[in-house]
Amino acid sequence: MTRGARLVVLGKQGAGKGTQCVRLSHYLAVPHISTGDMLRAAVKAGTEFGQLAKAYMDRGELIPDDVILGIVEDRLAEPDATRGFLLDGFPRTTVQAKALDEMVGPKAIDLALDLEVPTELVLQRLSSRRVCSTCGANYSLEVPPKLNWTCDLCGGEVVQRPDDTESAIRRRLDLYEESTAPLLEFYSDRNLLSVVDGVGTPDEVMERLVEVVDRARTSAG
Ligand code: ADP
Ligand code: ZN
Repeated sequence: MTRGARLVVLGKQGAGKGTQCVRLSHYLAVPHISTGDMLRAAVKAGTEFGQLAKAYMDRGELIPDDVILGIVEDRLAEPDATRGFLLDGFPRTTVQAKALDEMVGPKAIDLALDLEVPTELVLQRLSSRRVCSTCGANYSLEVPPKLNWTCDLCGGEVVQRPDDTESAIRRRLDLYEESTAPLLEFYSDRNLLSVVDGVGTPDEVMERLVEVVDRARTSAG
C-alpha cells in the first residue's frame, strides 16, 4: 500500500463499524465513505430520492443495487478519493462487490476488514443505540451524552434511529447473512480478507484494526 490505502470494511450492523471507520480513515488519511451516511443525508435533505430511500431503510431493506452503485460511482469520482478511500457499508452484495472491481480495477482494493461481533451482542447494541440526529455521533443507553440527550459534540438531539426497531433490525441481520456474508468468501478468495475481533472497548478494537492495517502496509511495501 504505497499509494493511499483502499479499504472496504464489512461486518454486521451494530458491530461498531461507523465509529471505528471514522477513526481508521483519519489514521490512514483517506476519506471515509459511508453509504448509510450518504443515504441518511439524502433523507434529511428531503429530496425525492431521499424519500424513496427512507422507505427501504426504515423497513431494513437494502437499496436496489443499481441505485447504490450510481451513488458510489459518483462519490469515488470526487478528487479526494484518488488518494484512497475507506468504504463503510459498501459493498453489501456480490453484485456490488463485482461492480466495485469494475469501477476501481480488480487489483485496486488493498484490504477487506471484517469486524466480527456475535449476533446476540449486536442485537443488544442495536436496541440500545442512540444517534445524534444532526451529526450522526453514536451513543447508547449505557453511554448517553452528558446532558439531557443532546449531543456532546454539536448539541443536536440524540434519538433512536428509525431503522433500529426490532423488526427492521431482524430484517437487516437476515439480509446480512443472505447477501453480505458471502462477501467474506469473495474477499478471502482474493487473499484480501482480515477478520478482526470487534468485541471490546472502542480503543481495544481500534488498536487491533491499526495493527492489521499496518501489517498489510508493510507487507505490500
Ligand atoms: P447498518 O450497518 O446499521 O445497517 P448503515 O448505515 O450502513 O447501517 O445502512 C443503513 C441502511 O441504508 C441499510 O439498512 C440499507 O437500507 C441502506 N444501505 C446502506 N448501504 C447500502 C448498500 N451498500 N446497499 C444497499 N443498501 C444500503
Ligand atoms: Zn451531534
